[in-house]
Amino acid sequence: MSPYTFSVVFAAFVVAALAWRTFLAMRQARHVARHRDEVPPDFAGLIPLEAHRRAADYTLARQRVGLAETWIVDGAVLLALTLGGGVATIDAWSARHFGNGYARDLATVFGVMLVSALASLPFDAWRTFGVETRFGFNRMTPALFVADLARAALLAVALGTPLLLLVFWFVQETGTLWWFYTGLAWIAFTLLLVTIFPRWIAPLFNRFTPLEEGELRSRIESLVARCGFHAQGLFVMDGSRRSSHGNAYFTGFGRDKRIVFFDTLMERLSAPEIEAVLAHELGHFARGHIPRLLAMRFALAMLLLAVLGWLYQQSAFYAAMHVANPHIGAALAGFALVVPVFVFPFQPLASLLARRQEFEADAFAANHARAADLVSALAKLYRDNAATLTPDPLHSLVYDSHPPAALRIDHLRRAGATPLESTP
Ligand SMILES: [Zn+2]
Repeated sequence: MSPYTFSVVFAAFVVAALAWRTFLAMRQARHVARHRDEVPPDFAGLIPLEAHRRAADYTLARQRVGLAETWIVDGAVLLALTLGGGVATIDAWSARHFGNGYARDLATVFGVMLVSALASLPFDAWRTFGVETRFGFNRMTPALFVADLARAALLAVALGTPLLLLVFWFVQETGTLWWFYTGLAWIAFTLLLVTIFPRWIAPLFNRFTPLEEGELRSRIESLVARCGFHAQGLFVMDGSRRSSHGNAYFTGFGRDKRIVFFDTLMERLSAPEIEAVLAHELGHFARGHIPRLLAMRFALAMLLLAVLGWLYQQSAFYAAMHVANPHIGAALAGFALVVPVFVFPFQPLASLLARRQEFEADAFAANHARAADLVSALAKLYRDNAATLTPDPLHSLVYDSHPPAALRIDHLRRAGATPLESTP
């Protein structure tokens, strides 16, 4: 493949992705705006019109930031870094300051990561201090925003450096199969990360306290025992430090399995509703969603690394980026930029699998707790998080990791819930 062909194919993919994303964003904006003034019949009585309108405005405001970010970061900055010679410039700078060894490769990879991160930064700030503040969700101070960035950067360097050095060493020592060993190292690294995340990484950003003794705890313990889980894995997180959005999530595997409730969620839901949300999260564990997700990610990583192994030897790849002499640092940095463009068409598939897991977890919850309680918990979550009830079906199909609220509630109602009987 010539550098020219390479550039044209890549640019065509970038432009097609931008056009497709813009088209979806416009559909979403139109759909949400058109349904702004009427609460869908399924939610009448659960969600007031005022809250529904606010959710529409919030969705549209976030969408504007997202679209601007797509055009600037995933369009202009991406093309400037790759075909425009940005990676080559950073790499030449690294070579001048660090010679030709591992230090230069590290500097190139981290340099490109830094530029990408800086490009996204104004949009993160706009989202947090613009949109989230305007809608009353933000509780983050500028000081905490900066502290979070510093922590994330330090973490990326601390975790990334040993992994990158190992990859450079594979390239030098293991010949053409270096990408395969890199894949094995990546799998080991991911498993390590998943294992240490709940106990060592998440606490760098938030405080986790075990769920308190009391009526709720004992109520929950019996549910947890029925599902064969350990109650030591139940934590409340101080999500209120950053935002008033409420959420719950599951993480880890083996003995380090955890279910985390945001304190903002605990404040708003009744005990039966919390129990139903917990049952949903337990459903993710019971159905083995973490191992299945990891297995799929590993297969994808191996496939992508095989492509990288091939690209690494293509002089056209470097020439398209204007990189003078091929080496692993520039290859990795360039590849990390290029890959999302080619993976993006598979987004609907990933969303589809994620949504299927949500239905499985909901079905599990309906069996082990009361479906009606989950319905009213979901309605409260949608209302308080100002999540739209009327997404554009195509937009939702492509992006949403969770099924639309109406569809979820419809499934739950068929599983035996009548929503109003549980409203406190
Ligand atoms: Zn879920």
